Amino acid sequence: MQTIALIAHDKKKEEMLDFVSHHKDLLKHFHLIATRTTGTLINENYQLDVETMMSGPLGGDQQIGARVATEQVDYVIFLRDPLTSQPHEPDINALLRLCDVHNIPLATNRKSAHILLQYADKKLNA
Ligand code: PGA
Repeated sequence: MQTIALIAHDKKKEEMLDFVSHHKDLLKHFHLIATRTTGTLINENYQLDVETMMSGPLGGDQQIGARVATEQVDYVIFLRDPLTSQPHEPDINALLRLCDVHNIPLATNRKSAHILLQYADKKLNA
């Protein structure tokens, strides 16, 4: 089963829930991992069984980065808040960098996330 990592900054959590709701039939076919708050919200709202890491500011982005580095993640959807400074900015940059190092498709806004899932869906059925 392929793995998708889902992360949303606080001001993007509603958007993530809406996005997941829209795509839940497809997301069921993937192993989902997420930072703690994002994953817990998704698990509370939908039957998706998301594996949760630590919260982003406490190291969750780094945990997901470690999975990217060991090629255990196929796609990353990271709804970032570009208008608020984050205390864990270095962790976020490290995760984005690892996606580039390992050539892992990464979407950082909803429209690109939608395109990413269209691609993932096509690959699933290829
Ligand atoms: P959270 O972490 O899902 O635990 O809020 C996301 C982040 O801020 O990186």
